[in-house]
Amino acid sequence: MLTEFSLIDKFFKKNAPQNPETRLGIGDDCALLSIPNGYELAITTDTMVENVHFFANANPTQLGHKLLAVNLSDLAAMGAKPLAVTLALTLPTIDEGWLSAFSTGFLNLAQHFSVDLIGGDTTKGALTLTVQAMGIVPCGQALKRSTAKVGDFIYMTDFLGDAGLGFKIEQNVISPSQSSENALTRFHQPMPRVETGLALRGIANACIDISDGLVSDLGHILRQSNVGASLIWEKLPFSNEVKTYIKNTNDWKMPLISGDDYELCFTVSPENANRVPENCSFIGVIEAHKGLRLEKSAQIETLTMKGYEHFS
Ligand code: ADP
Ligand code: MG
Repeated sequence: MLTEFSLIDKFFKKNAPQNPETRLGIGDDCALLSIPNGYELAITTDTMVENVHFFANANPTQLGHKLLAVNLSDLAAMGAKPLAVTLALTLPTIDEGWLSAFSTGFLNLAQHFSVDLIGGDTTKGALTLTVQAMGIVPCGQALKRSTAKVGDFIYMTDFLGDAGLGFKIEQNVISPSQSSENALTRFHQPMPRVETGLALRGIANACIDISDGLVSDLGHILRQSNVGASLIWEKLPFSNEVKTYIKNTNDWKMPLISGDDYELCFTVSPENANRVPENCSFIGVIEAHKGLRLEKSAQIETLTMKGYEHFS
C-alpha cells in the first residue's frame, strides 16, 4: 500500500518545474514563488466535489484535465499568465489506477501551459478535488468584471453551448449522434483560453469566463459594472451540432444558460474593436439601461440573469 508521501512522489512529481519564478516546489512546508517586478499575483481556487461537479464513474484522466482547466480559465479571464498551482486531494481510498489516470490528465495540461505543480495536501474522505492557481499580470492590467463601459461591444471566444449539449448527451436527455464527440469533449475536457486572455490585456475593458452560462456570467459583468446589455441572437456563435439541436428541439435557451463552456466573454471600447483577436465573435452591446436583453427575430426577450447556486 502506498503512503501519502510515496503517492505524491509517484504521481505528482513527474513534471520538472518550468518557470524561473518557481523557487521551491513540492517537498517542504511551503513552496516559494517570486513575482517579477511590476507584476501582480492573480490567485484563484476551484473545488470539484463528487456527485456535485462530476459523477462517481467519471473518467479520471478527463477529471484531472478539467480540474486544472477550470482554474486556468479563471486566470485567463483576468489576463494572467499561469505560473503555478497547488492541488488538495481528498480521496476515499488509494486507487493507483485512478491516481495514475487523474495525474496524467492533470499534468499533461499543466505541461501544455507551462504550469508548475508546487504543492498541495492529501487527505482521506469523500472524493473532493481542489486546485489553487497562481498567475502574473502587469500591475493594473488585470481584466476585471467591474469595468465594462456603456457603448462597449461584447465579444466571446469560439462557440457557445457545446458543453451544454455534451452534458445533455451524457445525461441521456438526448441520444448521441455521430457528431456528439465534439460536444462530449467540450464538456469533459474544456480548453482554457489562456492565449486569448493574455492577448486581451490593454484591449478588453471587462472580462469573465463562462462557467455557469453566458446569461449568468455576463450578468456578473453587468451588475458589477452597473450597466445593462443587449445580445444579438443572429450573432451568437453556434456550432453545427448546437444549431441542429435548436432546430430539432426549439430549446434556444440551452446554449445561453448552460454552463461548462469555459469560453471568455469580454467587452471592448468601439475604438479598440479592430484589435480584437480573430477567434472571437461580436455578440452584443453594453447599454445604460440595466438588465440583459436578447434581440431575436425582431423581438426583444428579457433574460433573467440567474445561474446555478449551490445553497439555493
Ligand atoms: P505538511 O504536513 O507540511 O502540510 P504534507 O505532508 O501535507 O506537508 O505534504 C508534503 C509535501 O507534499 C508538501 O510540500 C506538500 O505541498 C506536497 N503535497 C501534498 N499533497 C500533494 C498533492 N496532492 N499534490 C502535490 N503536492 C502535494
Ligand atoms: Mg499537509
